Amino acid sequence: MVVGDIATGTEVLVVGAGPGGYVAAIRAAQLGLDTTLVERDAYGGTCLNYGCIPSKALVTASDVAYAAREAEEMGIHADPAVDMKGMVSWKDGVVDQLTGGVEKLCKANGVNLVEGTAEFADERKVRVAHDGEGQGSESIEFEHAIISTGSRPVQIPNFEFDGEYVLSSRHALALDTLPESLVVVGAGYIGMELGTVFAKLGTDVTVVEMLDSALPGYEDDVARIVRSRAEDLGIEFHFGEAAKDWERSGDGITVRTEDGEGTVSEFGAEKVLVAVGRSPVTDTLNLEAAGVETDERGFVPTDDRARTNVEHVYAVGDVAGEPMLAHKAMKEGQVAAEVIAGEPSALDYQSVPAAVFTDPEIGTVGMTEAEAEEAGFEPVVGQMPMRASGRALTMNEGDGFVRIVADGPSGFVLGAQIVAPEASELVAELTLAIEMGATLEDVAATIHVHPTLSEAVMEAAENAQGHAIHTLNR
Ligand SMILES: Cc1cc2nc3c(=O)[nH]c(=O)nc-3n(C[C@H](O)[C@H](O)[C@H](O)COP(=O)(O)OP(=O)(O)OC[C@H]3O[C@@H](n4cnc5c(N)ncnc54)[C@H](O)[C@@H]3O)c2cc1C
Repeated sequence: MVVGDIATGTEVLVVGAGPGGYVAAIRAAQLGLDTTLVERDAYGGTCLNYGCIPSKALVTASDVAYAAREAEEMGIHADPAVDMKGMVSWKDGVVDQLTGGVEKLCKANGVNLVEGTAEFADERKVRVAHDGEGQGSESIEFEHAIISTGSRPVQIPNFEFDGEYVLSSRHALALDTLPESLVVVGAGYIGMELGTVFAKLGTDVTVVEMLDSALPGYEDDVARIVRSRAEDLGIEFHFGEAAKDWERSGDGITVRTEDGEGTVSEFGAEKVLVAVGRSPVTDTLNLEAAGVETDERGFVPTDDRARTNVEHVYAVGDVAGEPMLAHKAMKEGQVAAEVIAGEPSALDYQSVPAAVFTDPEIGTVGMTEAEAEEAGFEPVVGQMPMRASGRALTMNEGDGFVRIVADGPSGFVLGAQIVAPEASELVAELTLAIEMGATLEDVAATIHVHPTLSEAVMEAAENAQGHAIHTLNR
């Protein structure tokens, strides 16, 4: 023990106060466990500070600017000026309100909050280093630990993040001025969301992607609609090219890419945003001291009770693997706390919905048709195009569709793929349908408000049954 070290004990130690960690800590405290939550940076983690919330705030702001500029068709003439500082400061206000809320909720539930960086000392103890010269450290002994240290952006060779020319998503969400031009490396959901934000604000955006399509992992027709809308917004795509290096040139930079044949292309821009994926934060925890194993990518494998290979140590959220989504982290945090408290709790991964907040949005849950077939079902599919939705047209948004995949013989809903305005909201209904074991008939027989986007969910179910009214049946 170093001089100045103090040792304390706790029943449940949670490392990291992101969506996984703070939910775990609050739930554990609610269940009467003495709980300590250690955070080295800011309450709310990546999601509240540098991820979900700031990106969605900027999505909204860029939508407002874009809608105002493009509303001539509706008889509205406006020429909005974008003050990036003002926009970012509004976003920071939203973030502060939410992170303050998390801190208050933790305190109100009786969670002990400790600021500092935790590292395992052995199987039952962490050392927490406090920031700053002479701030010292403390040791905390625990009965159970929950690792929820999240993830960080992947760096690629020759593109070290500097916040000035080479941006991570975190930098891109906190810019002082609007870049005139931006190269985005990676057409995953983060690259596509942020690319859309900047394109709508007026930046010249070029997206470079190593694979041959945007939003890899989504079905072709889903990704195609978003990509084609992004192209309408002026985004230029280059597929099959990997970012190679960059150099300063004039006021900005030149980014070089290389395709499979070795052909090099150059793109001039003010900045480059690298969004090629995220990796788990497990390398700084001294996990060996606790005996916790990681896989070859650094994730901590867990079972359906969020338990690691060490009986009293749990892992939740991004560190525990894909999908790296906040709502998955929260659910796992809740389950870990309940399991520690002796509740009969477990994880059901059948229906983790996912959303991409592009224009239009994507909302998916459960199986695609191909996955249903592979799993041995006899899938039936129903689809409703948004151009047949009265509400979508009143919003001037006719792109996209709602698709439902169900099991033919039983009618059970198995999955949904939605590309539409508010797809992130629409997917909740079908997530519930899957959780409840609802059939196509249950969804189709439910009266939906007219005119709403949600009617398309009902119509897609009717379409799968062969009796849709507002579309031609398949
Ligand atoms: C730009 C962007 C947009 C996103 N948008 C969405 C979205 O719309 N919807 C969605 O579901 N997900 C989104 N995500 C993903 C989401 O942010 C993560 O899935 C989520 O934050 C994971 O939560 P977590 O608790 O596992 O980890 P994190 O939120 O990463 O939190 C981990 C915390 O642990 C702390 N920590 C790490 N090591 C230590 C240590 N040794 N000691 C003490 N503290 C430590 C960190 O400081 C951090 O606060 C987005 C991510 C990004 C980057």
